[in-house]
Order: sequence, then structure tokens, then C-alpha cells
Amino acid sequence: MKQIIKTDAAAPPGYSGEGFFATKLSSLIGMARSFSLWPLPFATSCCGIEFMAMMAPNYDLGRFGGERMSFSPRQADVLLVCGTISKKLGPILKEIYTQMAEPKWVVAVGACASSGGIFDTYSVLQGIDKVIPVDVYVPGCPPRPEQILEGFMQVQELARSESLRRRDTPEYLALLESYDIK
Ligand code: SF4
Repeated sequence: MKQIIKTDAAAPPGYSGEGFFATKLSSLIGMARSFSLWPLPFATSCCGIEFMAMMAPNYDLGRFGGERMSFSPRQADVLLVCGTISKKLGPILKEIYTQMAEPKWVVAVGACASSGGIFDTYSVLQGIDKVIPVDVYVPGCPPRPEQILEGFMQVQELARSESLRRRDTPEYLALLESYDIK
């Protein structure tokens, strides 16, 4: 049976009456952000093909406002790491993450990005969270496009509910510091 996914942007919680609607500015910004996330695909191997399928018309990330891919970290909101990451590539991935502006989110797409997958070897990074903070992990080898969409929707939820001050909190700054990111 075909699953219907609701993709329209619902109004944030608030108070409405005849001719007016009042809500928090942060809710409004969260809603706008969640439907205008620009993904940066960092695809190194097979999971990248699943990412391409997710962008194509059958799955169509554009329904969620994420069709505008950015190949420049400075104009991207969501880093989607799809594939095996070697230890040599780790510092490059970290530099790309560092170049992204706040607020930013990271999705580890597939087993390799999440944990090294089947490649428990000397040369493969055993999960990208060894070098950068990860917000959402998508399991599978490879994950189906629907799973990557689900991961993207989780990021939408994070963007929608995030406090505008979160990125300035001591907890967030401590998280970055634990990765030696200034
Ligand atoms: S998780 Fe599986 S499909 Fe994805 S990059 Fe690794 S080996 Fe390939």
C-alpha cells in the first residue's frame, strides 16, 4: 500500500482568532528553517547512489524543501555523509564541517558513515562521529531511499524544535570543543 507522507508546512502552535494569529518568533523561524534545509552530499561510495535515488522523482526530496543541493559548505545546512570514510579523509570531512555556518546538522547515512560498517580495518574511520558531531544516524547497508528521507525528516524536526539560543549554550560549545572545533 502506498504510504502518504504529509509534506506541507503546518503552522506552528499559537493563538488564533478572527483576523489574527500569534506565535513565538522561534517557532516561526524553526518552521521556516525546517522546510528550507540545503543539503550538502558528501558521497564516497555506494550509499551515494541511494542518495541520488532519494533526490530523483520517485522519492523527491524537493517535497520537503531540500531539493537545493549545495556543493559549497558555506551555503549548506545539512551535511549528509554517504559512504565509507577512510581515516585519511577524516580531516577533510572535519574541515568541511567547520566551514559550514551555524545552525548546521549532520546525518550519517548508512552503516559505513555510522560505524565503519563491514570495514573493520586499519584504514577506515569507525564512524564519522570520531571526527565531527552527528545529529542523526541512518542504519542500513545500504539504507533505502525512504530511510534517508526519514533521516532528513528527523533533521527537520530538530530544526523545528531547536531553541534559537542552543548554539550559544555552554553544552553546545563544550561539544564542539570535545571535537577540537573552535
Ligand atoms: S553502508 Fe554499505 S552500501 Fe553504504 S557505503 Fe557502506 S558498504 Fe556501501
